Amino acid sequence: MPPAHPFDDDKLKEECGVFGVIGVADAANFVALGLHALQHRGQEAGGIVSHDPDEGFNSARRFGYVRDNFTSQSLMKTLPGPLAIGHVRYSTAGSKGAAIRDVQPFFGEFSMGGAAIAHNGNITNADALRRELIERGSIFQSSSDSECIIHLMARSLQRNIPERMEDALRRVEGAFSVVAMTRTKLIGVRDPLGVRPLVLGKIGDGWALSSETCALDIIGAEYVREIEPGEMVVISEKHGIESVRPFRTQPSKFCVFEHVYFSRPDSIIGGRSVYETRRQIGVELARESPVEADLVCAVPDSGTPAAIGFSQESGIPFAMGIIRNQYMGRTFIEPTEQIRNMGVRLKLNVNRALIKGKRVILVDDSVVRGTTSRKIKEMILDAGAAEVHFRIASPPTAWPCFYGVDTPQREKLLAATMTEEEMRQHLNVDSLKFISLDGLYRAVGEAEGRNAKCPQYCDACFSGEYPVEPADMIQKGFQLKAAE
Ligand code: SF4
Repeated sequence: MPPAHPFDDDKLKEECGVFGVIGVADAANFVALGLHALQHRGQEAGGIVSHDPDEGFNSARRFGYVRDNFTSQSLMKTLPGPLAIGHVRYSTAGSKGAAIRDVQPFFGEFSMGGAAIAHNGNITNADALRRELIERGSIFQSSSDSECIIHLMARSLQRNIPERMEDALRRVEGAFSVVAMTRTKLIGVRDPLGVRPLVLGKIGDGWALSSETCALDIIGAEYVREIEPGEMVVISEKHGIESVRPFRTQPSKFCVFEHVYFSRPDSIIGGRSVYETRRQIGVELARESPVEADLVCAVPDSGTPAAIGFSQESGIPFAMGIIRNQYMGRTFIEPTEQIRNMGVRLKLNVNRALIKGKRVILVDDSVVRGTTSRKIKEMILDAGAAEVHFRIASPPTAWPCFYGVDTPQREKLLAATMTEEEMRQHLNVDSLKFISLDGLYRAVGEAEGRNAKCPQYCDACFSGEYPVEPADMIQKGFQLKAAE
């Protein structure tokens, strides 16, 4: 499958979104809407499993966008019942775009009944678990790390499915926000560090679990609270919500990049509006790295709130110097280098009348490989800009993520091999500044900045300090940052 848009090779990509509903008629329709609102978390494929007391479990898994599959009445009719879960995926673990069998939710039939699971995150000891499980007789259907959870559940000696899931997840390392279902229960679990998000909502007499609050809004559900790090909620029509804590308590390490880029700006994380956090990042950037200029422009859309914040703090006018073509959709052309150059122009265009002769501050969310930044800079200069100053709303991305985000290998990350000044020269811009880690922490609400002894978030892709050792990757030769 071709990249979803021309920047796909130059952005970090969240790999999954999960959603589940219990206690409403035709729950699968709500799940389809929820997944549509979570489409930014994964565009490769999606799936829904539902359960109906008369019809049992049913499932549908498809490649492509939710709107292109799960809007068909004939398909949705095959997913009846008051309980359903769903998943959209990009894919980091498992082969990319390879087979429908890699598309979640996964389903397992146990002696006490069936269960389906949808997983957001990445299991960092999946290779070792898979080897062990295969040696003990498990037969894997997919290449996904998430399937380990089903096999571990099958081997558990516990008598009910939630307890088997607890057993299974205690063996799993890394990041997981899981939404699961049995015939009568909707289950939500977050890993002990709470790396990936998961929230609870109320809809009528029923309940919803979602990766983000924006997906609760679309179905008219009321946001109740976050599932806490290390918490498992088991929701049934008979018993309501039961909460257990199967894991050893640890300081939480929520992914700080969710604030910067992955989550939608209309979502709420940790009681804070994502939009407001991003605007505040722009404020911090303007304080840390001011520059004389005529205009502040965003690289749309993800750079926009930070550009607004930069403009407000600096007093330099915000202007739409780059316009995004809303109807670009999926790129359909073979990704040769020449076509890739065109691809950026298909997606973005410079507002020439505005830019000509101006000193422009360009605010972007991140620099990964730097290929897109270079092209955008060229477009701005072609349009007659007098100066181009990049301001980046995240610290330099110098390390890969192993917790459910697709990142290039370390050597492909511009910041892994270059200093800030070398990156500036490479991009050939008048100035280039990234927000500091402390500035980012202040923007997400930590007034004192980053606690170096025990960071309040996962920031491994910036700091190289991995809160969970990526065991499989170390086995494959990945070298952790040397102790200072
Ligand atoms: S490494 Fe970066 S992207 Fe991955 S979970 Fe940590 S902060 Fe998020």
